[in-house]
Amino acid sequence: MKKKNFLKEISSAAANKDLNKDVLESLLLWFDKEDINAFYRLNAFYLADKLKVDRKELLSLLIELTGAGLFDINWDYHCPQCNGISETHNHLNTAKAEGHCKICNIDFRNILDRNIKITFTPSEKYITIPMDYITGKMNEI
Ligand SMILES: [Zn+2]
Repeated sequence: MKKKNFLKEISSAAANKDLNKDVLESLLLWFDKEDINAFYRLNAFYLADKLKVDRKELLSLLIELTGAGLFDINWDYHCPQCNGISETHNHLNTAKAEGHCKICNIDFRNILDRNIKITFTPSEKYITIPMDYITGKMNEI
């Protein structure tokens, strides 16, 4: 699906919802001007700061759009020692309580409000991020 159609789907999904319209407009403008590689693993707070919008408002919007099937959530498990991403899951039901960092060679316990962070990626139904870009990012983990 082309980026313009994805933007229409976002507008449609957000219509008639109790969401901040300025935040929606900022997000749509950002998506329109950015390369699709930039859509991979969006950190809601980082993006909110970049767009100069309220963090909670953008997070609410992305969660709403995820509920509408437009985005997938990535559950990223960070090593408590080096902060590198040791694992990533798309569903909590595949998550494990125990983690291991290959770089630090340590085992640790995954704790939701400590070392687990979420990012958002457009659903593959709408946007296809080039596999070579994803592979390059995964090799950074
Ligand atoms: Zn580590």
